[in-house]
Amino acid sequence: SSTPRKIGENQYQIDADSNLGMKVPVRIYADEPLMQKMLSDRTIMQAKNVACIPGIVSHSTVLPDGHEGYGFPVGGVAAMDAEEGMISPGGVGYDINCGVRLLRSNLSEDLVRSKLKELVTDLFSSIPSGVGSKGAVKLTPSELDEVLVRGVDWAIDHGYGSSDDSDVCEENGKIQNADPDKVSDKARKRGAPQLGSLGSGNHFLEVQKVAEIHDEEAAKRMGIEEGTITVLIHCGSRGFGHQVCSDYLRVAEQAMEKYNINLPDRELACVPNSSEEGESYRKAMFSALNFAWSNRQMLTHWTRNSFQRVFNQSESDLDMKLVYDVAHNIAKVEKHKVDGAERNLVVHRKGATRAFPANRNEIPLKYRDLGQPVLVPGSMGTSSWILLGKPNSMNLSFGSTAHGAGRTMSRSKARRNFTEDDVKKSLNDKGIFIKALTRDGVVEETPQAYKDVDSVVNVSHNLGIATKVAKLVPIGVIKG
Ligand code: 5GP
Ligand code: MN
Ligand code: MN
Repeated sequence: SSTPRKIGENQYQIDADSNLGMKVPVRIYADEPLMQKMLSDRTIMQAKNVACIPGIVSHSTVLPDGHEGYGFPVGGVAAMDAEEGMISPGGVGYDINCGVRLLRSNLSEDLVRSKLKELVTDLFSSIPSGVGSKGAVKLTPSELDEVLVRGVDWAIDHGYGSSDDSDVCEENGKIQNADPDKVSDKARKRGAPQLGSLGSGNHFLEVQKVAEIHDEEAAKRMGIEEGTITVLIHCGSRGFGHQVCSDYLRVAEQAMEKYNINLPDRELACVPNSSEEGESYRKAMFSALNFAWSNRQMLTHWTRNSFQRVFNQSESDLDMKLVYDVAHNIAKVEKHKVDGAERNLVVHRKGATRAFPANRNEIPLKYRDLGQPVLVPGSMGTSSWILLGKPNSMNLSFGSTAHGAGRTMSRSKARRNFTEDDVKKSLNDKGIFIKALTRDGVVEETPQAYKDVDSVVNVSHNLGIATKVAKLVPIGVIKG
């Protein structure tokens, strides 16, 4: 049947229906209200469509923050056989390597509150933001190539941080086998001026305080202490990744006939991972991954400078170390156990965060015996979470968990229902100071437009996918 069947606490399944072309079941991780929410839009239908893609393995996964997206749901994971399966631009999303990174600090909430407006204003003026915002660097074409191949290492070599930073990024902030030759001129033209900018809308830089510790040992290892200040940065590959996605959606749409692929939704356009088109998309998408890592690294550097200026403290006094950096729009080959056998799978995480348990080789040495830090933003008026990847992620969700609270209200509905003053006032009442470029940027991002992040995190925690380490609450936000 097409209604999700409860198969356990916080777990639902829709069995594979061959009449619909489904090759595997859909698995949904949610509590009752989150499940109901997903049934009110096209999330579940989209997850069923994804289950029809040739080479999909085990199940099409929807995480508790799932909502509808372009073809594939946001908050979804699809793992395809690396030899026989597909790779799909819509399974990664338009903002390739949209992701989050968390900085810790030695500062106390009290001290930061005493200069909060000054700090947020300084951050806002040092970090370029807005829809078409340009970064503070000018790149020649060959310099851009270097960014696309070297990612965070390019930024570090140009003074935007140190190698401690790359050590704690997914893929060390530099995925191998990117190829700038597979990127169109249009993407290069759109992207080059935007390196080193936050972008708009849902992208943000947030000053937070550590409000609760749930896992003392893990928090300690991450340098997280109750009452201190952290900074969460959310952004991606800007117009560069967007154009790469558009370009390869066209390529995939045109190649599908050749490969005899028929799917229920044109937005699922995909090509065999091992085909020439698949390889080209992968190399271009990897270039965009590196662009985004470099981008977040530059914003990190300006953030540190801002804090040093405002608090008149040295880099080592502040000790604003990068805790971790995760991508939440990405596809790459990983080894996973399926029915007892190890296989190479192209894991598409779209609005999904890798959440590997201890001892996976991909985890930085610093955390390898602990597990991977996972960052789950909530909204500018609620909380965000640090989680720790646990073994059940490998059994349930291809080593993945939620990437946020997930939207529950469209941008247009938010504009109809709230005013800028409403939103600013309610943030102000909670002691949160916001600076944003546009009125719409504030209203569309009202905390009421997002689901309850605590419920989302509880599902992950209860299932042993990724468990709670610390709760962070905002005190200052900049929005593009
Ligand atoms: P997305 O990548 O899907 O655009 O957004 C990821 C998640 O970020 C959203 O699902 C939402 O929960 C969260 N989010 C959006 N705006 C903010 C913000 O200003 N602050 C925090 N902490 N989280 C946010
Ligand atoms: Mn994004
Ligand atoms: Mn994002």
